[in-house]
Amino acid sequence: MKKFLNSITNNSIGILRKPVIFEIIQSVFQGQPFFVILLAVQELIKPLDGQGIDANRLYMLLAWLAASIVLLFFFGKAVYNMEHSAAYTIGSEGRLALGEYLRKLSMGFYKGRDPGDITALLLQDYSNIETMISNLLMAAIGAVVLPVVFFFFLLPFDWRLTLLTVAPIPLAGLGAFISQKIVMYTGTRHIKAKNEASSRMLEYLDGMKNIKAFNLQGEKFQRLHKAFDLLKRKSIQQEAVTGPSVILAVWILNAGIALVMLMGIKFLLVGTLSLGNFLIFLIVGTRMYDPLSKVMINFVELTYYSISGKRIRELYSVKPLPEPEKSNIPDKHNVEFEHVWFHYHDTDVLRDVSFRLEENTMTALVGPSGAGKSTITRLIARFWDVNKGVIKVGGIPLSNIKNEDLISRISMVFQDVYLFNDTILENIKIGNAEASPEEVRAAAVKARCHEFIEKLPKGYDTVVGEGGSTLSGGEKQRISIARAILKDSPIVLLDEATASLDPENELHIQDAIGELVKGRTLIVIAHRLSTITHANQILVLKDGEIAERGTHDELLQDSDGVYAGMWNEQRKAHNWKVGSKSYSGIIGK
Ligand code: ATP
Repeated sequence: MKKFLNSITNNSIGILRKPVIFEIIQSVFQGQPFFVILLAVQELIKPLDGQGIDANRLYMLLAWLAASIVLLFFFGKAVYNMEHSAAYTIGSEGRLALGEYLRKLSMGFYKGRDPGDITALLLQDYSNIETMISNLLMAAIGAVVLPVVFFFFLLPFDWRLTLLTVAPIPLAGLGAFISQKIVMYTGTRHIKAKNEASSRMLEYLDGMKNIKAFNLQGEKFQRLHKAFDLLKRKSIQQEAVTGPSVILAVWILNAGIALVMLMGIKFLLVGTLSLGNFLIFLIVGTRMYDPLSKVMINFVELTYYSISGKRIRELYSVKPLPEPEKSNIPDKHNVEFEHVWFHYHDTDVLRDVSFRLEENTMTALVGPSGAGKSTITRLIARFWDVNKGVIKVGGIPLSNIKNEDLISRISMVFQDVYLFNDTILENIKIGNAEASPEEVRAAAVKARCHEFIEKLPKGYDTVVGEGGSTLSGGEKQRISIARAILKDSPIVLLDEATASLDPENELHIQDAIGELVKGRTLIVIAHRLSTITHANQILVLKDGEIAERGTHDELLQDSDGVYAGMWNEQRKAHNWKVGSKSYSGIIGK
């Protein structure tokens, strides 16, 4: 239990201490009104023994009852606030901690999980934890404490009836235990179906353009249909199997009332129980079941919600990429691949790849689609760890550099730029959160995006839609280059994205890239060979191996080589000439 609470509270279990203590105190005090009722019953049955009723005493008891109810209201309100504030603190801190943990995991983790499942972990599962802590867990504590108070309170009146009163509790507990097992089984499947449905919904919204284009709406979008159908079935199953076990547990408890009554009558008839004590058991003793019955019903919910805790714990058991205790900071920024082997699944994507990128040089990666070019850049940024061999920056293996120290030295410009649903200023500042608005502007000028930003209705304060949906592809790309310029890191990984752009945007982007790469270790995935003719080194990848390496001129020497073949093909297609504008041409090397 402690381990469970530690994992869902992000090891700050102490946050629950105060609300739990106050909940226990509150539960003990909740027994008070029953104590007052008991004294009132004793007073009211005095005429049976030939004594008169003391009305003053009854008024005093009434005043006590009123005072304790008022006190309980204020105490309860304070405890309620305390419990909810602890629950929401745990929820928000837990989500942030989990978000940070997710950042440390290898990208391989994300490939194996549905996005809806991860979203559910951060939103739905933590929301379940909040409800579990604020309502159910505390109610469960109350339901355990109150019967214990009642037990010791009733014991002096008649130990036999007291034992009979508590007798059904273990039996109902057994029912609860069985329903817990069932709920764990069906609940896990229900949550899985729910997350699957939310993944398919995300997919449906994300792919809306294609869904419209291919008329996949409604029933034709089978994946969404199937997911919601499964969710419906699992939801019905969930209710169907859990309901009866809860009803059984509550029924067992209620049977206790009948048992107390039956035995009470017997004891009364043989004269071993006074009428007064019998009434006490009937009025007060049976109230013991109220919180228990409530908790039996809530127990199913509590168990269901605890699956969320289990899911969070499971996620924490996925080990992040190992990092050194103490980071080794590279003082040089050359990059080396030494006999690197890598696979995403079973097939090797890189096979015995070795090369060296010197500081302040440009290396181009070229080769057919699927050859492993992007994989090389992802491995430099350590999105994955290599399977064999080693990658070094400044002579230090990546695994000996803390992730944040490595990433702070690398700028990445991807083809598929993602912008956050925030202002352009904030989107560029992702490169350097400390940058002043002037520095952001300067980076935007260099990235050739200042001009179009100024023309937007709110300039740098214009909010771009989710993913940057309100901007064109070329504009997004230039903003991502501004980010990278602002980051000012010594290694630049660039996935050339000019292929699908119009000539004007392409020119702007080429200029922007020229600014970005000045004096850095640059590795560029080149799709258009005309842009890399002046690269210091070109690595030609084929089937995960380096098939050829050299400068443009050296590679063209082998007229049967892969590079020469690619060059001739592209030249024919686009009628290029050697010496057209290239990155290195822009840099002036
Ligand atoms: P392109 O020019 O089309 O972008 P590329 O040379 O950059 O191709 P990579 O993206 O590195 O090629 O992919 C190399 C191989 O690895 C391909 O067969 C691809 O299908 C596979 N691959 C790439 N990313 C993943 C991934 N995340 N999970 C599984 N396989 C992957």
